[in-house]
Amino acid sequence: MARMSDRVVIPLLDERKPARPGSIAVPVPAQGLAATGLLADALGRPLRDLRISVTDRCNFRCSYCMPKEVFDHYHQFLPQADLLSFEEITRLASIFAAHGVRKLRLTGGEPLLRRHLERLIEMLAALRTPEGEPLDLTLTTNGSLLTKKAQALKDAGLQRITVSLDGLDDAVFQRMNDVGFPVAEVLKGIETAQAVGLGPIKVNMVVKRGVNEDQILPMARYFRDNYGGSVVLRFIEYMDVGATNGWRMDEVLPSRELLELLRQDFELLQLDPSAPGETAERWGYADGRGEIGLISSVTQAFCGDCNRARLSTEGKLYTCLFAHQGHDLRALLRPAAGAAISDAQIGAALAGLWGRRDDRYSQLRAAETPSTGSDAPRRVEMHYIGG
Ligand code: SAM
Ligand code: SF4
Ligand code: SF4
Repeated sequence: MARMSDRVVIPLLDERKPARPGSIAVPVPAQGLAATGLLADALGRPLRDLRISVTDRCNFRCSYCMPKEVFDHYHQFLPQADLLSFEEITRLASIFAAHGVRKLRLTGGEPLLRRHLERLIEMLAALRTPEGEPLDLTLTTNGSLLTKKAQALKDAGLQRITVSLDGLDDAVFQRMNDVGFPVAEVLKGIETAQAVGLGPIKVNMVVKRGVNEDQILPMARYFRDNYGGSVVLRFIEYMDVGATNGWRMDEVLPSRELLELLRQDFELLQLDPSAPGETAERWGYADGRGEIGLISSVTQAFCGDCNRARLSTEGKLYTCLFAHQGHDLRALLRPAAGAAISDAQIGAALAGLWGRRDDRYSQLRAAETPSTGSDAPRRVEMHYIGG
């Protein structure tokens, strides 16, 4: 019989539990860099779009983003002290604007859960580009708190909004948000946002094959009939972000297939992109009553003109949605006592980081199957970095 001391103990590791993402220290540049108005990365792509995650918490548990079994009662969200303050976010955003960023998108987690978010919006709305123009300021939300908050967001200076909604059928939507949240509340939020002038509104629908593909046509009809051109419905391919959603290629409905489905009911014409680096391919209804967008991040990589950077809730900069590690900008904002770091020095650090950027994950994924074995470094989760 084996004695206690002969037993081999094999530690168990729950591979689905998200690890805290690692971070890369950013050296403090000796020399500052004044506003450049334009930074180009190693592949010549400019920095134009900054997505700012204001919380890693969410009141939904969408299976493709924060599966309930992983983000449960025991999951440790970031402590308050780790979050960037509104002053810190605004300081960074102003430095990014000085170096070419023209668009700010607040995201999360669910951004409307961050207390006093309107105050941050007011502060960001006051920023200007080096040419004196206001920035394009928007926000992505699950819509659950929108009815209550739309007017305050508008009053604070938010220009427009993107609402995520994955179906019109309550059973389907509730299965996807996994907290039993009703469709009607999100639709009311969209109506209120429209009424207070937060437009043009975009509605994002993530499509999972076999889960909500039967919602594609009802969603298209609903937004076309009720809003015409003032709401643009965008269909997003289910992506392999993070390491917890159990992503499988056979659950992706390629945009080409989705387009064929829509064309059975509607005549659609391809439209020109409205801005360089735009993620969605635009298709207009032939009778002029609005348009839809296709975001094909899996089947048609759009890394070639990707001009987006992402700032996590705790101040790490990610140069790609599929990155494993972020660059710790918060350390530059909170240096040791007596060692102030200027905006120009942070600008120089940013120029160095962006200048070395050569990310193009989706393009490489299309060319080969990326490593997903247990030795592959963990990708950062979508609710943490923002969409
Ligand atoms: N909570 C807000 C919301 O849902 O709109 C903002 C954050 S959420 C991470 C931003 C966007 O990412 C949403 O439109 C969501 O549908 C999308 N998203 C999350 N996980 C995704 C995945 N695995 N594939 C595609 N899109 C995803
Ligand atoms: Fe929350 Fe948005 Fe992720 Fe859904 S997609 S779990 S609403 S952060
Ligand atoms: Fe941009 Fe990375 Fe997405 Fe490519 S994979 S489009 S580089 S965020």
